[in-house]
Amino acid sequence: MKTPTPHRLLQYVRRGLRLKRYLQRPGDGRRYPQIPAPAMLWAILLGQILRECSFHAVESLVGCACRRRLGVSRKFGDDALAYFSERLNPAPTRQAAVQVVRQAKRNKAFQNSTFLGLAVDGTTAGRCREEQCSLCRPLRDAHRQIVGYRHHFVMLSVVGTGLSLPIDVEPYGPGDSEYAAGQRLLRRAIPALGSRFADYLVVDGEFATAPFLHACDDLGLPVVARLKGNLPELFQAAQQRFSQHAAKLEFRWRRDRVQVWDADDFDPWESLRWSTVRVLYYRQQQPDGTVIEAHWLTNLSPNRVSTRSLFRMVRAVGRLRTRVLMKPRISTTWNIFLIIMRTACY
Ligand SMILES: [Zn+2]
Repeated sequence: MKTPTPHRLLQYVRRGLRLKRYLQRPGDGRRYPQIPAPAMLWAILLGQILRECSFHAVESLVGCACRRRLGVSRKFGDDALAYFSERLNPAPTRQAAVQVVRQAKRNKAFQNSTFLGLAVDGTTAGRCREEQCSLCRPLRDAHRQIVGYRHHFVMLSVVGTGLSLPIDVEPYGPGDSEYAAGQRLLRRAIPALGSRFADYLVVDGEFATAPFLHACDDLGLPVVARLKGNLPELFQAAQQRFSQHAAKLEFRWRRDRVQVWDADDFDPWESLRWSTVRVLYYRQQQPDGTVIEAHWLTNLSPNRVSTRSLFRMVRAVGRLRTRVLMKPRISTTWNIFLIIMRTACY
């Protein structure tokens, strides 16, 4: 068996994932580049793979005697890397990420799951003491005092397949909002992925607003959203109804006892233009007595998705929040690295 080497990985990324063009032209925005962009991009990706992802660590990596074996053609410093990444246009990276997940689907990487999902959720990147740019949002302590600044994003990932693959991120600065950024992200990514790429989109409760759900309708994407107290009428109606009925389904899931209630004839709230709302409520009791419970709303019909499948969808999401630790401008590169690493398993 051939041992993995950086050169073989580079060949796989170029040919297997068909990213040769992207590696050659990743969207370099420098006016007078001294160091070729492919060398810097590949060094950033390698830094991620080797978990040496700070610019300083990448500088040491490409400065060492083994540079040629890593497939990096030139030596450069951390300043050059910062200058390059700050000017890197994220569009080609986004396009490459979409191309890789579409390829993964064609290669049947997701065939073990009946339904392929997407998830939108918030995440943050970096942290600094002073405000550095227009995207910096203040970070406050318990007394509302500003203790630093961070960048906030919404991230789109493939879920429900056993792998969680980040595809794209959209930043939102002060005065903007997570849910407005989520709509921009979907309007960009879903047409690129193709409207039939995913079977559903799963989101947290703050996205369960009529404008967001309507944006998903327009894109032809059914939604599964967490139902919480921010939709008091529907939440109370579901709690009241389900408390009066026995569970629709009861089963063992791993070592837990699960009860699921499911009804598809709830009234939509005033601004929502759905004809009815389906609500699922589950109660999962663990062997030590701990109970996990949650309400979810959806427009997926019971004919298409059974109660048990819907339960699996919402449980598969788990904790979506993933921290993007890289500098914001190159966090899309971070995403493509994750995709490359994970699809490389297939
Ligand atoms: Zn900033």
